[in-house]
Amino acid sequence: MTVQECERLKRITARDTRICQTYLRIIKHNEEKQILVNGEFRRLIKKDLTVDKSILDKLTLTTSKRTTVPHDLKKRYSHCSHNEFQECRDKAIWTDESWRKLQAYSTMELKRPQFKTKTSRPMYPRITQGSYTVRVHFESGNTDAKLWLELRDSLDSKKSNKRIHKRLKLPLTYSPYHENKLKPEQIKQIELVYKSKERQWYAHFIQKYSVPSYQSTNPPAVLGVDLGIKKTAVAVLLTPRGKVIMDELCFIVNKERQSKIWQLNKRIKDIQKKLDTKINNGQSHNQLNVKLSQLRRKRRSITEQELGYAVNQLVEFILQLKKQYNLFVSVGYPKDIRKSYLRGSGSKSHRRQLHKWYYRLFITKLKYKLKRYGFEPHHVVAVKEKNTSNTCSSCNSTNTTRTGQGQFNCHKCKYELDADLNGAKNIAKRLIRYALKPKLRHPLKPKNYYVWDLLTKDNHPIELFKSLRPLGKWLR
Ligand SMILES: [Zn+2]
Repeated sequence: MTVQECERLKRITARDTRICQTYLRIIKHNEEKQILVNGEFRRLIKKDLTVDKSILDKLTLTTSKRTTVPHDLKKRYSHCSHNEFQECRDKAIWTDESWRKLQAYSTMELKRPQFKTKTSRPMYPRITQGSYTVRVHFESGNTDAKLWLELRDSLDSKKSNKRIHKRLKLPLTYSPYHENKLKPEQIKQIELVYKSKERQWYAHFIQKYSVPSYQSTNPPAVLGVDLGIKKTAVAVLLTPRGKVIMDELCFIVNKERQSKIWQLNKRIKDIQKKLDTKINNGQSHNQLNVKLSQLRRKRRSITEQELGYAVNQLVEFILQLKKQYNLFVSVGYPKDIRKSYLRGSGSKSHRRQLHKWYYRLFITKLKYKLKRYGFEPHHVVAVKEKNTSNTCSSCNSTNTTRTGQGQFNCHKCKYELDADLNGAKNIAKRLIRYALKPKLRHPLKPKNYYVWDLLTKDNHPIELFKSLRPLGKWLR
């Protein structure tokens, strides 16, 4: 890319940023007003907090039929095309909508969004007989770069009868991974981002895959998942019969990795002790610090591997069950950390963060994987893990003991079960209770059009409660 081209690109993105900012201002200016459209008054912000694109267009863009508008953008940015305006409009609308939704379930006053740094508009590749705003193509035989991004340079175009635009031709560097993944005909959106720290431009591509939709007429069932230390994960299915059948549970254990983590835990703890004494004596401790962070990084990567392995196993299990049931997955989410885990990782609050990171990562990975197989991600819900290990899953009594071998005994109803299974069963039951009594104190808070999840800070669509309701019938 020549210096001149680089300058042009900077100017184009700067202009786009200004247009996006203008759109945000127009939305703010008109959000309270009633706007006359085709003889009736309508609002720019719809009831579900989204922005009405057609009304916004009527406010800003002139067409051959519509000659005057309140905010004439085409007059202000005379070289910009209709398509380019719409691309900027979409960017502004996304930003505004995400702020609006956050504000809807926040008790604090959130700051309105602003485009301070240079952000490019999202560009949609469109090819209409040689005229395009952006195009990606592979070029064979060229040794410098094979992948090119061609961008319409719309800063100053010759205005005769027809507008003529120059093209900016940007070479892209990429890895073999990107070459495999990138299909120019599948690209739905391209965004150019300038990272000022690295002084480099990045091109972000969004490609569209089609995923089969998942609509089940099967009976509902809940899979309770308990993440643990000795066993990475234990999953139990609660069916309408309310029974646990042996081939409908899943233990995920990987002894090799687990012992690795235990060893690392021990070493980290030892070094932490040494470090503490050195700090107390005022000695230098740089080397120990380096060693400690090395070991922690190693532990983190092993934990992540272990997690990925567990998720893969669980996804296989879930996809099997999906054939028979309308399946919901309930994952136990901790409020407090278990003391023995992640020993020697600094302060208690730090350990708690690490622990939460582990659970969050698990849930995110699971949702992401399942989504690719057409399993609706809002069927995966986090529930509070508190007391699930010491409550009897048969009679809800807490007058129970847990023996050393991981056996669970209830003193009230004499129920005996594997302790991890009992925990997972309780986790499954908890999700059903949430659905039955949405007013009870639990972390799923319905608000307007969303269910706000206090545990994971995610949001689910309001349909979650509706689809969970039939499960309650067989809880009693
Ligand atoms: Zn009992």
